[in-house]
Amino acid sequence: MNQEYPFLSLVVPCYNEEEVLEYFLQTLTQLLQKLSITYEIIFINDGSKDNTLTQMVLLKSQYPCVRILNLSRNFGKEAALTAGIDHALGEVVVPMDVDLQDPPQLLEQFIEKYREGYDVVLAKRADRSSDSFLKKISAEYFYKLHGKISDIDMPQNVGDYRLMSRKVVDELKKLPENQRFMKGLFAWVGFKTTTIEYKREPRFAGKTSFNGWKLWNFAIEGITSFSTAPLKIWFYIGFITAFVAFIFGTWIIIKTLLFGVDSPGYASLITVVLFLGGIQLMGIGILGEYIGRIYLESKKRPVYIIEAEL
Ligand code: UDP
Ligand code: MG
Repeated sequence: MNQEYPFLSLVVPCYNEEEVLEYFLQTLTQLLQKLSITYEIIFINDGSKDNTLTQMVLLKSQYPCVRILNLSRNFGKEAALTAGIDHALGEVVVPMDVDLQDPPQLLEQFIEKYREGYDVVLAKRADRSSDSFLKKISAEYFYKLHGKISDIDMPQNVGDYRLMSRKVVDELKKLPENQRFMKGLFAWVGFKTTTIEYKREPRFAGKTSFNGWKLWNFAIEGITSFSTAPLKIWFYIGFITAFVAFIFGTWIIIKTLLFGVDSPGYASLITVVLFLGGIQLMGIGILGEYIGRIYLESKKRPVYIIEAEL
């Protein structure tokens, strides 16, 4: 199936996934054959430290629909996705996790909806019971906060698994930024969108590479990419603090004039100093977060480097 432009491009970033690759391909090719469409499966080897690449090459010799992009090191899932999407030739593109947490059975509905005229078909997790309690709660609050303080409407409980038409992909490819928060970028480009619901399965094998710290940083990335609210909020916090301090100061002056000095006031003084010091440090930290991003963007480095296309 090696013709120039397949109908469907599956973009599959892989990091240390030697255990699941073969099963993934078997499942997918079986399913896709039934749909009678042309397709390509693009594996992106995101600098895996195990035998993922060898496994990919082996599988490619058995399955001609496979394409392999080998990144020169681990660039992270967002960059790997970007690489895959940039190289996809299909009329529609679907990013997919290799661990089969995104049920392949949905592809049929994706394509149906596409044929009905939608440019984006989202897969919404109706139930996240396969995720840990903490991940569920933190995800919920993250989406809420994100929706409030940024001007894109990022749908809740929707992952990277979705169908995008060629129109959408071409727009996505024009976005120049370096620090890529794909879910946000997907939402930002817009287009006619519909949603189907599914249940997220537990990982088929191997283990997740997103731990708490990585997810926290991912969330910060998501917010700072699409909102400047954390920068603006300091104006209001500063204003309120200064206002309260002014009232407090006036009151102290009046009190001292009327009743004279009663105590040295060390306790209240040190409290206020420390409190303001803390607030200022936080403010500087948030500025730093944005300045850091400006710095990284200004270098205009590529998002990923492809060592070879196999
Ligand atoms: N992944 C990647 N590069 C990374 C980390 C992950 O390409 O640095 C891939 C991984 O191989 C998988 C997908 O991203 O196909 C989702 O990763 P994972 O299942 O670990 O995340 P989770 O489903 O727990 O969010
Ligand atoms: Mg997973």
